Amino acid sequence: MSLSGKLAVITGAGSGIGRAACNILARDGATIVAIDRIGASAAATIKPLGDSHLSLEVDVSSSDNIRAALNDTLKKYKKPPSIVVNSAGITKDNFLLKMSEQDFDDVINVNLKGTFLVMQNFAQAMVAHNIGGGSIVNIASIVGKTGNMGQVNYASSKSGVESMTRVASKEFGKFNIRVNAILPGFIKSPMTDKVPDKVKEIYLQSCALKRFGQPEEIAEVISFLASDKSSFVNGASIEVTGG
Ligand code: NAP
Repeated sequence: MSLSGKLAVITGAGSGIGRAACNILARDGATIVAIDRIGASAAATIKPLGDSHLSLEVDVSSSDNIRAALNDTLKKYKKPPSIVVNSAGITKDNFLLKMSEQDFDDVINVNLKGTFLVMQNFAQAMVAHNIGGGSIVNIASIVGKTGNMGQVNYASSKSGVESMTRVASKEFGKFNIRVNAILPGFIKSPMTDKVPDKVKEIYLQSCALKRFGQPEEIAEVISFLASDKSSFVNGASIEVTGG
């Protein structure tokens, strides 16, 4: 199996793409540290996978929470993860003219700052423990590239994640840690269930494959990027949108 013997930390693990990533990376041999804002959601993800995995309640916008999660991981496994998947994310949509400062800050704090804090803390641990062959996968979004009405906070956060990914890939290359981003299109998950039907129809018509993606279709790409099969892929933004 392509991820045998590897330890992977996955944020946003209690739902959608993060949960699918836990299942597929475990299927491919990895041991999973599942992180979510709601500990019970992360625990529910891990339950069918068995006792060798770990779930933790962590708010990724809190550096204290992340440091505690890293310590708990080191305590249980005696090494830091060599795979880091940043899938935690939120939307708080509104038109730019109407968006509150709070909603802008909240989305930036989770999606952009959260990705920064997780990458910084876990990569520091990888370097300190001399973990080579590391792989960090950040879930950005196609709307970071295209823009999207009503998502000035979200689209900016995801462009930032892409840019941060490129910077990190340049800085971490000398430690043999690769960093890549995935830009999903419209994926069926609790996040998109709340999108109005009228808007869903527009997305559907604009997709060449004329369907929404499934979380597992992102998770398979995460597993590829996490594995040595992608050993020369670094600093890339991979669109997984159905065209
Ligand atoms: P989801 O089903 O809502 O899953 C996101 C998970 O992250 C939820 O369990 C959520 O918990 C958790 N979370 C939120 N804030 C957190 C925090 N501060 N700390 C830790 N965990 C937190 O959404 P998804 O569709 O799987 O999305 C996963 C990632 O893909 C996100 O970054 C999203 O922006 C990105 N993405 C999704 C799509 C799509 O079409 N679905 C497209 C492009 C990109 P709560 O439910 O309690 O908030």
